[in-house]
Amino acid sequence: MRFQCQPGCIRCCEQPGHIYLSPADIARISGHLILTQAEFRRQYVCGVKGRERLRKPRAKQCPFLLSDGCGIHTVKPLQCKAFPFWPEILDKASERRDAAAYCPGLGKGPLVNIRVARRVANQVLREYPEVYQPDAE
Ligand code: SF4
Ligand code: SF4
Repeated sequence: MRFQCQPGCIRCCEQPGHIYLSPADIARISGHLILTQAEFRRQYVCGVKGRERLRKPRAKQCPFLLSDGCGIHTVKPLQCKAFPFWPEILDKASERRDAAAYCPGLGKGPLVNIRVARRVANQVLREYPEVYQPDAE
């Protein structure tokens, strides 16, 4: 697997789907926005404990998506930072094909060290345990 994120690209941020938030994500992003965690939750978060996620605005997939990139790039959720090294993408060829259909960085650049990619995927599994339960949607 080769991967190199392409400058100026925001295609992964435009894909339909949920952006889950771990407690660490919420602490980091709310601090960056100078909001309490309760204020951040009120403005930006929906979903139940363990599967909290960013609330979507009407016209786009993410409240922090700007025309030129992520408005919270330095503190973005681990889910975003980890892409495309999500557990399901590493484990399933069909998921890799689906991701490659919208991510122009997959298949470009240097070969990915699988141990590094797996470490990222394991961190995702640890931070979002409820999202990756077998019966999760
Ligand atoms: S779709 Fe791929 S290349 Fe584009 S921003 Fe996301 S990870 Fe980078
Ligand atoms: S938080 Fe940033 S990186 Fe994640 S989907 Fe929103 S705009 Fe994209």
